[in-house]
Amino acid sequence: MAIVSYPMADCPGCRGSMSFGNVDVYGSFILRGCGRCSYTERVPLPEIHKRKLYLDQSFLSLVFKAEDGRYLAIAEKIKSICAKQALVVPYSNLHEDETHQWKHYEALLDFIKATARGHELRPSYEVIQAQFDTALELWLTEQNPSFAVEKNDAFDKEIDEWESYYRIDVGGYYGDIEKIRAAKITSITGLVDTFDAWRDSVHSIEEHINLELASAAEGYIKAYKAYLEKVDAGDYDVLVDRPINSKYVERMVRYEALGGSLAERVQSTFRFLYSPNFAAMPAQSISARIYAELREQVRRGAYANKAKAIARLSGFFFDVDHISIYGPYFDGIVVDRSMHELLRSNSVDLSGRWGTKVFSASNLDEFDVWLGEIEQAIPAEHRGALPSAYPRLLV
Ligand SMILES: [Zn+2]
Repeated sequence: MAIVSYPMADCPGCRGSMSFGNVDVYGSFILRGCGRCSYTERVPLPEIHKRKLYLDQSFLSLVFKAEDGRYLAIAEKIKSICAKQALVVPYSNLHEDETHQWKHYEALLDFIKATARGHELRPSYEVIQAQFDTALELWLTEQNPSFAVEKNDAFDKEIDEWESYYRIDVGGYYGDIEKIRAAKITSITGLVDTFDAWRDSVHSIEEHINLELASAAEGYIKAYKAYLEKVDAGDYDVLVDRPINSKYVERMVRYEALGGSLAERVQSTFRFLYSPNFAAMPAQSISARIYAELREQVRRGAYANKAKAIARLSGFFFDVDHISIYGPYFDGIVVDRSMHELLRSNSVDLSGRWGTKVFSASNLDEFDVWLGEIEQAIPAEHRGALPSAYPRLLV
């Protein structure tokens, strides 16, 4: 006997009247059963492919804080395509520090549930670790440093599956809001304070990209050395609570293929960190280019007003981090205008280099068209199976 979610017919097993119907959907088939006997049937479902969309806080804010009509309509469209199993907006908690003070917070949560559909992003350190592993392997085997990301690496579970009626709820809010906000303001002020020096810069954008990459490499090495020094000094608390950047290095240093002795492996690891292979990791490559491009914009006269610059770039560090780590795993991302400017520049060129479409208020029409194309492109087999799998869905 099963719990029948949608009783639709008399049971072929016990002939019970209207006791037979869908129990649930399991990835690649519908399970049908009877509320009175143990009779079941499996109805196979066609293979599906879902597009992955990332919406940043600026988009959510226009929908659920400002209730901007154009954005509301687009949000409805997104929900509908997600319900049709053609799109998913995997949930991440990086942008939520302010949202629960919004007037339409409950509606926002409903939207997140309806579009994330139980899918979450994997933690950033796991995604970066996967990029390190690939980049190091290519370096060791002297292959072309550029690599396409393994799309599944960024998501907590298989996305291209028909989803269950009982999709998992996404998590609530974590972290200390006031602390997050204060940290954000200090760091943006610090960034904007360096703009004066940037304006006098004589370096080319290529040179700036290389400087950014070298300083990232140095950051990893420093974190690792600081960690070793603390362990040497007998500070074992560091083993529990230590900078994540030292962990990536330590993991590489243990890798036997890097050399016979520890000293050799440390040397190899450091050489890798200054190699084109390290530079090709999306997390390094994209963030170095975003900062270099921002520098270039500043040099050309952008962000001249400090107060305005701080307001416009609020949340910038979070966004850069997030986009450089996760961007390549998405088919489309929606960001604010400032970030869009940076991402579509020749130096970053997120779409050209990773195939991720970038949208913002400046090309909202294109975003609408892109969503429409996804809806239109649902294969007939997939579309035809929707009413059987989800009897209440209006297709
Ligand atoms: Zn039955």
